[in-house]
Parts: sequence; C-alpha cells; structure tokens
Amino acid sequence: MAAERGQAEHPSGSGPAGEGGGGAGPDGRRRPRRRSLLIGGGTAVGLGAVGLAARDELSRWWWRIPGNEKPRTPGAVDHRGAEWIAASDANLRRADRPADHVIDRVVIHVVQGSYAVALKVFQDPAHGAAAHYVVRAKDGHVAQMIRELDIGHHAGDLSYNQRSVGIEHEGFVDRPEDFTDAMYASSAKLTAGICGRYGIPIDREHIVGHHEVPGADHTDPGPHWDWERYLRLVRAATS
Ligand SMILES: [Zn+2]
Repeated sequence: MAAERGQAEHPSGSGPAGEGGGGAGPDGRRRPRRRSLLIGGGTAVGLGAVGLAARDELSRWWWRIPGNEKPRTPGAVDHRGAEWIAASDANLRRADRPADHVIDRVVIHVVQGSYAVALKVFQDPAHGAAAHYVVRAKDGHVAQMIRELDIGHHAGDLSYNQRSVGIEHEGFVDRPEDFTDAMYASSAKLTAGICGRYGIPIDREHIVGHHEVPGADHTDPGPHWDWERYLRLVRAATS
C-alpha cells in the first residue's frame, strides 16, 4: 500500500451540502438541516422563526421514535462475504430504506487514501462522513460499515445520500494502478447485488461517480476509473 498522501481527503465530507437534514446534524454542519426543510416542502419558506424551529426539532428527532427503526442483528451484512466493521453512528442516519427512502443510485468513490485510513475515519465520530462499503485494492475484500437500510453521509448531498448506497475504493484518483482487477471484480459483484436488491437499472444514470452528484466538489473516482469495464463486470455478475 502506498504511503498515504495526507489524510483521506475524499471522505472528509467537506462538500457544500452534506447530509444531515433530519439527522441531528451528524456531520456537524448546520446549513444542510435548513436546506432539507426547504427541499421537504416549500411551505417551510413561509414559516416564521418559531415554526421553523419546531420543524427543525421534529426533523431532528423523528427517526429516534420507536417504530421508525428496523430491528437489526449485530454483525449482519447485506453483501455476502462482507466483513462487518461498524462506522460511527455519528456518520450515518438510521433509517428504514427502502421503505422510507427509495434506493435508486449507487455512488462510486475513491478514498484518496488506503483501506485502513477509510476504516479509521469512518469509525471516527468527528469525521462526519462514511460510506456503506469499502473495497480493498489488493484482494477485493469488502468491509460493510453501514447497513443498506441506513443512510450514509458520503455523497455530500442530502437527496443523494438518502437514495444511494456508497462504495469506497482504496486508492488515489491519479493512480490507475490502484484500481486492481480484484477490486473491480469484487466491487462489480457488490454493485450487482445492490442493483438486484432494489431493482436499480445497471447504467450510468444509476451507477454514478461521486463527482457526478449535484453540487459535488469532489473529483472521485477520477478519470482513470474504467466505467465501461465496470458496468460490463456488473452486468456479468448479475447474470
Ligand atoms: Zn467520494
């Protein structure tokens, strides 16, 4: 594994409009919560300060009400063979997908760092971001850190976080040699499974790079990510 060039820049969640909309500002930013209100309904614009505050409080807590959370088995994974390594609860929002949010996107990321760094920062409550999966370069090993029913803070966009499953890949965007055959194959199998579970079409509209998320200021997975090859592998893994 190459020396890490600085910190895992990508999962820093430093996007302009991170997740956090009903989730108690788990990423530490305050702006998105208000933004989610505006997205949630135009009426929010017309509410006075008191109304806004009340709705803000409501949106912050609703998901902790019993009944809004599915029972989950400790250590259970959604992808066969994945290793469960829990991300910090601060980097996700518990949900009940696909019942409460339709899942129709897979977002592909590159860590800008090592597999170990990705695991470490996603377990760090102060990090403010985490993806559902991290794929290791040398052997394609998959760690699942967030259950698919929950919302990971990985896309830097509330709507995209809610609707997607995020996959991080070890490596750097400017080093195509980081994207190993093993990683492509394993990741494609993972994406094929996600698409199958939620009926997501296997195309470039639904399987997107982080840089394609609206408002993204991240460049991953970068120009060396071979989309044609990747989609071919995903399709092959489905059949
Ligand atoms: Zn990314």
